[in-house]
Amino acid sequence: MDRSKLTRSIVIAMIAGFALGSTIHWLEPSSEGVIETYFVSGLFDIGGQVFIATLKLLVVPLVFVSLVCGASNLSGNQNMGLIGIKTVAMYLLTTAMAIILALGVANVINPGLGINLAETSSFAAKDSPPLTEVIVNIFPSNPVKAMAEGNMLQVIVFALLLGVAMTRSGKHGQDLSQSMARWNEVIMQLVLMLMQVAPLGVFCLMVTLFAKLGYSAISDLMGYFFCVLLVLLLHFMITYSLLLRFVVGVNPFTFYQRMLPVMAFGFSTASSGATLPVTLETVERRIGVKKSVSGFVIPLGATINMDGTAIMQGVATVFIAQAYNVDIGLMGYLMVILTATLASVGTAGVPGVGLITLALVLTQVGLPVEGIALIIGVDRLLDMSRTVVNVVGDATVASVVARSEEAFDLETFNNEEGSSLAKV
Ligand code: ASP
Repeated sequence: MDRSKLTRSIVIAMIAGFALGSTIHWLEPSSEGVIETYFVSGLFDIGGQVFIATLKLLVVPLVFVSLVCGASNLSGNQNMGLIGIKTVAMYLLTTAMAIILALGVANVINPGLGINLAETSSFAAKDSPPLTEVIVNIFPSNPVKAMAEGNMLQVIVFALLLGVAMTRSGKHGQDLSQSMARWNEVIMQLVLMLMQVAPLGVFCLMVTLFAKLGYSAISDLMGYFFCVLLVLLLHFMITYSLLLRFVVGVNPFTFYQRMLPVMAFGFSTASSGATLPVTLETVERRIGVKKSVSGFVIPLGATINMDGTAIMQGVATVFIAQAYNVDIGLMGYLMVILTATLASVGTAGVPGVGLITLALVLTQVGLPVEGIALIIGVDRLLDMSRTVVNVVGDATVASVVARSEEAFDLETFNNEEGSSLAKV
């Protein structure tokens, strides 16, 4: 299947899944009917779960191999440190922009005014680990354990060290680095194979999600729900579009069009981690970011860059403060910008974690963590939407960094079908 056909099929599968799921929900609102038992929790659920499992299967090998390749390419040109600093700075900057936008818009819309707290359910917050433990945990003591547990930051550190060591090991290192590049090709081929069945997987996921989704919660939380969606859209239209237009120098709409399959994966899986193989493939072969940059910037972004999550946390903080009638003041807002940036760094790219790390932000500004119970009912749909922003944010920053390093291939970007081989 060619690329534009595949994109079209994925988008059609999404819409068809949404339509069928919503129809089932409408026909059988209870969760005990025949369609629910045999199809939603049966056939479609199995299809969706197998699809996600296969995507996740690719994450550790892909991140490892592409980072080793990326690091060994980069450490050869002495620019590695600078690229690292640029990447992290851009990730933090775009996330801070996202929260500022969220706080600004939420203070205009006031989504939490007039909320009745009596109707809420309870939420048990988990304790977040102390900062010292978080820092120590970045460094792996056992790479095999890190891979088995899917601890991405540890895998990243190990792969980076190995990549640098390869460059410094002369001929043997070079041989290994070449065979890693071959492995990379093979794993990418696996990603492409999986993408061929993606329309089916996306369809199953969408049917299951929308058949089970509680729409009544949305009407109760209309203000909050649409405020988050609005800010997600604004961040897309303003921050990313300006960066793409003026820093990368490409047409943002063409960029978004190339990213459509990635967005569909992000939306239907609600996981930037599971979407990572598709993000990497698309950024290299359809956008034109060279492997040396994408191999490092994209896996890191899928782990630490969560603009959409930060937006939800910004709006949620204002919403909860208003619902509890607490004025957090200017210092409170500055604290939210700081902690939500850090919280989104610490949010794993899996469904629903943003809501857990929100506890960190609320605690820092003295708001009750139980406030999370107010918004839990509509979080699934918002999780899906913010994951789209999370993954597009990774691709945008990768393009900015690539452009500044002269590692952005305009020819690939302008070619409708992309390139079959990513350039180093
Ligand atoms: N689901 C989000 C992601 O994977 C994280 C979150 O906000 O919960 O990107």
